Amino acid sequence: MRVVVAGGAGFLGSHLCDALIVRGDRVVCVDNYLTGRSANVDHLLDHESFEVLEADICNGVEVDGPVDAVMNLASPASPKDYYRLPIETLDVGSIGTRNLLELARARDARFFMASTSEVYGDPSIHPQTEEYWGNVNPIGLRSMYDEAKRFSEALTFAYHRRHGVAIRVVRIFNTYGPRMQPDDGRVVSNFITQALRGEALTIYGDGSQTRSFCYVEDEVRGFLALLDSGQSGPINIGNPGEFTMLELADLVNELTGNTAGIVFEPLPSDDPKQRKPDISLAEDLLGWSPVIDLRTGLERTIASFVAVLGV
Ligand code: NAD
Ligand code: UDP
Repeated sequence: MRVVVAGGAGFLGSHLCDALIVRGDRVVCVDNYLTGRSANVDHLLDHESFEVLEADICNGVEVDGPVDAVMNLASPASPKDYYRLPIETLDVGSIGTRNLLELARARDARFFMASTSEVYGDPSIHPQTEEYWGNVNPIGLRSMYDEAKRFSEALTFAYHRRHGVAIRVVRIFNTYGPRMQPDDGRVVSNFITQALRGEALTIYGDGSQTRSFCYVEDEVRGFLALLDSGQSGPINIGNPGEFTMLELADLVNELTGNTAGIVFEPLPSDDPKQRKPDISLAEDLLGWSPVIDLRTGLERTIASFVAVLGV
């Protein structure tokens, strides 16, 4: 297949490009480096099956030659990034997604949409199944991201129903691993960076909120299982292991040998209190489940951060 990966120079997108190349697909990576880095795909540049197109998908996407699949991972994803880039986040989720859907429609290609567990907002059912419609504040601090992704999902289904575009919608739960930016503000990056610098880990709120962390290799394997399936989704892909932020901090301090402890900082508004995917659909329909536990994934991530930070 020849696959267009929008957001291919980002954290998840670059791992996806790697996995597609390894299995023999051809990749066109489209990115404007808003939150990603060309360094994430530098190692692929000499590969004959890999091309990079520097472009903002909000300005239209022109790709020469055949296109079999369009995968849309382009969007700021870390809360710190989308707070800073609210309009860009809404534009990429609406105009950008529409431009990629037009590309898929014109080429009769399948369209893969990277949605998020954030469509469930601060969920009142637990764990979250795909049937849950969510609890999102439409004007809250996270609204630019949550509503952009909800709009992207709606637009993707509209193109499917109206134009017959073959679609795959994945709802991604918190994913971590090498190539996360040390300063992206996400909890795993913050904790590891702080721990490696011998600083206290910053816990927002009382640390009782939960998240479920999936290692990037498992996550990308789930993307490919969905892409190759006949399923439209939405399908949750995430690791159902659920941890409080206090538990995560303890584990990071243990694995790094950091003795500086933790400090408490204010909890941002609309921060979801709990999050855990129900992955029954992924298990039953895709034969997918994660295999890398948090301790193993964190050890690998810490090793990569040691190299990047030079500590
Ligand atoms: P990231 O910020 O590392 O990657 C996003 C990429 O999109 C970056 O390379 C950025 O430069 C690019 N981009 C942004 N706007 C663009 C535009 N207008 N045109 C072209 N490129 C553009 O984030 P990530 O963690 O790799 O997330 C990738 C996707 O997965 C995002 O859509 C995100 O919403 C989704 N997702 C990620 C997670 C997670 O835990 N990492 C969870 C849920 C959903
Ligand atoms: N968080 C924290 N300390 C940090 C960064 C984040 O306690 O230094 C909390 C944050 O408030 C949230 C959880 O960790 O409750 C996950 O945050 P992240 O930004 O990684 O992802 P999201 O909130 O989008 O799930």
